[in-house]
Formats: sequence, C-alpha cells, structure tokens
Amino acid sequence: MLWPCAALPHAPLAPRTTLRLGGAAEWLLEPATPAELREAVQAARADGVEPRILGGGANLIVDDGVLPGVVITTDRMKRLFRPQDAKLDLAETADARIAPAPREEGLALVAWAGTTHQKLLSSACDLGWSGLEGLAGVPGQVGGGVAMNAGGRWGEMWDCVERVLVVDEQSDLVELAREQCTPRYRNGGLGRKIVVSALLRFRFDAVKAVKERAREFLLSKNKVQPVTLLSAGCIFKNPDPERSNGLSAGQLVEQAGLKGTHIGDAWISEQHGNFFVNRGQSTARDFLALIELARARVVDRTGIVLENEVKVWTAASTEGAPSGAAPSGAAPSGAAPSGGAP
Ligand SMILES: Cc1cc2nc3c(=O)[nH]c(=O)nc-3n(C[C@H](O)[C@H](O)[C@H](O)COP(=O)(O)OP(=O)(O)OC[C@H]3O[C@@H](n4cnc5c(N)ncnc54)[C@H](O)[C@@H]3O)c2cc1C
Repeated sequence: MLWPCAALPHAPLAPRTTLRLGGAAEWLLEPATPAELREAVQAARADGVEPRILGGGANLIVDDGVLPGVVITTDRMKRLFRPQDAKLDLAETADARIAPAPREEGLALVAWAGTTHQKLLSSACDLGWSGLEGLAGVPGQVGGGVAMNAGGRWGEMWDCVERVLVVDEQSDLVELAREQCTPRYRNGGLGRKIVVSALLRFRFDAVKAVKERAREFLLSKNKVQPVTLLSAGCIFKNPDPERSNGLSAGQLVEQAGLKGTHIGDAWISEQHGNFFVNRGQSTARDFLALIELARARVVDRTGIVLENEVKVWTAASTEGAPSGAAPSGAAPSGAAPSGGAP
C-alpha cells in the first residue's frame, strides 16, 4: 500500500500510550503537516477504512493483538506559534513563524494537533497568559485534548478554544468557530471530525501568577493521583451528582470496596478509585475485565451505571468511543479478581 506520508506496518501501539499495554496497528500513518493529515485520512477512507486518531495515548486502551485498519498518529505535528495576522485564519497562518510580538499583544496561540499539553501550558505560562492552568498534570496532545475537552475542576481546554481546524466527514479541511461547536464535560462535541489545529485565546496576567497557579494545581493533583504509575487517568466519567448523591466515580468505586482489586497486573489504585493502573505486564483483556468488574459492582450497589471516560480500541469498535465494553467473550487471563494488596 502506498500512503501519502510516513507509514509503518504492524506498528506496536503500547509504547505510544501511557498505559503501555495492548497490541499493534495494521498500519500506522505519521503525517507531519495539516495537508498530509488530510491526505492520510482521504487515503484511508478511499481504502474503505475509517482511521483511528492517536494523540498522546493518555486516555486510551488498545486491545491485544493486531488492530485491523489504519491508525493515524499526530505525533509529528507539534508546531505551536503566535499567529501573525489579525484575521487569525487557521488555514492561512498554518505556516507562520512565532511572531516576536510584545507579550501583551494578541493573546492567541495556534497549536497543531500534536503539540503536547505540557508544551502549550509552559509556553502560555512563560507569556503570563492565563486560561489553561487547569491542564497542569494532564498528559496528552492538543488534538486529543480538544476532542476530549480535557480538564477538571480548575478549567478545561475549551475555555480557551476560539477556533478549530478539522478534517471533516468528507475529508475536507474546515475551520469551525467556537459557536459552531458544542463542547461539554469530557467531550469536545466534534463527533468524527479530526482536529488538525486550534486557535487558543488567553487572558493577560502576570507571569509569576500564572506559573504559581499551574504549580499549585499540579501539586494538588499529585497528592491524590498515582502519577508515578502507568494509567490512563480517570477510567469513568463522574455520574450526574443528583443521582450519585454528589459522589464522584472514584468515590463510588471506593465505597464498593474495590480499591486494591486486581486482575493479573491490572489494578484499581489504592490511592484513587477512578485510576486503574498497569503494574507492568497487564494485558488489555485483563484491564477491560477489571473495568467491567468495577462497573458491575457499582451497579449492584447503587444502580448507577458508570460510563467510560477512557476510550477503548478493539478490533470490533469503530472510532474508539464505544461504551467501553470488553471485547465479546473477554475473560481475564490472569488471576481471579481479588481484593487487597498483593
Ligand atoms: C496521569 C494522568 C492524569 C490525567 N488527568 C486528566 C485530567 O485531569 N483531566 C482530563 O480530562 N484527562 C486526564 N487524563 C486523560 C488524558 O490526559 C486526556 O484525556 C487527554 O486529553 C488525552 O489526550 P491524548 O492526546 O493523549 O488523546 P488520546 O488518548 O490519544 O486519544 C483520546 C481520544 O481522542 C481522540 N483523538 C486524539 N487526537 C485526536 C484528534 N487530533 N482529532 C480527533 N480526535 C482525536 C482519539 O481518537 C481518542 O478517541 C489523565 C491521564 C493520565 C495518564
């Protein structure tokens, strides 16, 4: 197969996810520019395949074995710059260099999809531009962050998104204004559109104040999350607080007595009930079985069906945003579920 950009057959995906588990992609395409990304999507669709898009792999479980079809990674699309013209047209400014403008001017950054959250946040902090401090400690890339509306109690990605450039369902490059989009809790509301770049607008502030806020948020998260272990962040979305009596998904898992439960090397963190970790050799199958076990126990206890926040890519799933059920017939390969520490 001749692809319009760098392409790897049978490429292992585990090293490209924060969980470090799962199998390989039949094809992994690595576009380096917006035009190449569009062409890669077009080529996959022309081949009868809907491509899956991989950002930083920080919110993703990839199934074991070979995933048929095409995965497109945005890893090579890391450009971040201050747009030069007043129109802020994403398509037209896509090749602009960072303008050496005074920091009080513009207050806008254009980030290509593969720019890491960390790079985006540190650049905004250095400029004293406020708005994305809540992304401190949230791994991933801008494309994934916009698609997921990454964030938390201190703010989320779409607080700053003014426009996005996407590859739409017809494989055209289209620019969308914020008003045309419907971002919500952990969902950018873009459906199957693929994020190419985003124009982010900030508030002017003192450099020190912005940096201190980001640091404070990071330290708060580090106190409660198992940040040194392999995870995909929160597994479940928080349920409607009216139904859960204000309890978060992590609290519901904890109250069901599940902290420390494991199947093989897939563990529910002792520290945070909504973080499931790979203690080294977990398979996707065990990980998915552990998720289903937790979901079932919480339903039994409370009647609340927890919905996945994490995306699951199985051979059978389409883009990767199904309800998150384990592959049919999945059975844990490791030890029977057990509570308590090893
Ligand atoms: C330690 C840890 C802490 C975390 N804390 C938080 C937190 O506080 N808040 C939070 O929201 N998340 C958190 N997460 C989860 C994760 O960081 C975010 O969801 C992040 O936005 C995922 O971005 P990504 O680039 O890694 O996306 P990926 O995991 O690569 O992909 C996630 C989904 O986005 C889609 N996607 C990726 N790129 C694109 C694109 N260019 N266009 C369209 N769709 C795309 C994928 O197809 C997939 O469906 C945490 C994760 C970890 C490991």
